[in-house]
Amino acid sequence: MQQTLVDQGRPGFWSGMSLWKKIIIGMVLGVIVGAFMGPDAEILKPIGTLFINAIKMLIVPLVFCSLVVGVTSMQDTRKMGRIGLKAVVLYLGTTAVAISIGLGMGTLFAPGEGINMVTTDTAAIAKDAPPLIQTLLNIIPKNPINALAAGNILQIIFFALGLGIALTLCGEKGQPAVKVFEALAEGMYKLTELVMKLAPYGVFGLMAWVAGKYGVDILMPLIQVIAVVYIGCLIHVLVFYTGLVAVVGRLSPVRYLKGLLNPAAVAFTTTSSSGTLPATIKAAREELGVSKGISSFVLPLGATINMDGTALYQGVCALFIAQAFGVDLAMSDYLLIIMTSTLASIGTAGVPGAGLIMLSLVLTTVGLPMEGLAIVAGIDRILDMARTTVNVCGDMMVSLLVGKSENEVDEAIYNRESAEGELETA
Ligand code: ASP
Repeated sequence: MQQTLVDQGRPGFWSGMSLWKKIIIGMVLGVIVGAFMGPDAEILKPIGTLFINAIKMLIVPLVFCSLVVGVTSMQDTRKMGRIGLKAVVLYLGTTAVAISIGLGMGTLFAPGEGINMVTTDTAAIAKDAPPLIQTLLNIIPKNPINALAAGNILQIIFFALGLGIALTLCGEKGQPAVKVFEALAEGMYKLTELVMKLAPYGVFGLMAWVAGKYGVDILMPLIQVIAVVYIGCLIHVLVFYTGLVAVVGRLSPVRYLKGLLNPAAVAFTTTSSSGTLPATIKAAREELGVSKGISSFVLPLGATINMDGTALYQGVCALFIAQAFGVDLAMSDYLLIIMTSTLASIGTAGVPGAGLIMLSLVLTTVGLPMEGLAIVAGIDRILDMARTTVNVCGDMMVSLLVGKSENEVDEAIYNRESAEGELETA
């Protein structure tokens, strides 16, 4: 399936090391060098700018192709009708709640307050936010090619979703185009992987510049970002998901949490919800008693389109960056972030680091400076561990609720005392 963004270089100290370790090293070295050089460290900033430009290059084609493919991969949804609809509504609804929690936490704890960074990102400075109603009316592009050329993300999302649905409705006749988009999406994932190889150097350059200019005090807010994302993730799973399981599903939330343990551990360590899928399916069947039919349809769909943890993280990081750069966000910006993140989650690959690229999309939509992206990139792996775990817990929760509503949860398995028993699965 989709390629992992993790470096798989040749053996050797540096080239054999996994990407996230290199990024952390880049960040630490950047802070040290910046602390020593002081404001002179600005000469290292172009390395970071190079990385940011490379990410900007990816946004439009990556979002467009992966959204078309995200929708066409749901073609089974149509076949499955009612079940698919329930799953998609639950997936997107819980994602919107997740990002709202992220925005709420980011506002409450304000991890970026008092940093006072300045941006040289002219696109961000030039931002003049149109009223929300105008943005909503504009979401339909009069000319989709213009939308692609201008990088109007909401218009691009709208057109991609429309094209994906249309190609699905075409059935066999649409398949050649679907294959082209699948191949292009694969190509874009590969290109993303290549661009991400620049991340350790880009993060180094930007962290040196930031630490040189603002001192090492910048690290404290980053630790706060980590804490806020983790607390938000815990609230989402322990309050919101368990609440839905208890109230909507009328099932024991404790059993749901116990059933999560295995896939959550795999997700936390691999940071890939697609990679965790076998463990997720196994646990949904054997621990939660969800039928084979429901789990093998709802869970792969979830690994592709459901990204609650990623959305929550995007809410916190967007606010952190806005606070750090002193950008005031209007209510309409908050709504835009919720909308963009929720729709973008359909096109986010369940692989390590994908959420970071999608964060650039959210930043672009509300006109926030991209330099912020490289700063949070330094702590991305740590954040990815939490958000991937939530993504997987969300998939399990939705499969359970959909299964329950279809009478396809074996409650004898769900409620049994020991999770160790060898039970026949449906
Ligand atoms: N790593 C996440 C996942 O696989 C996606 C992300 O980067 O947010 O679910």
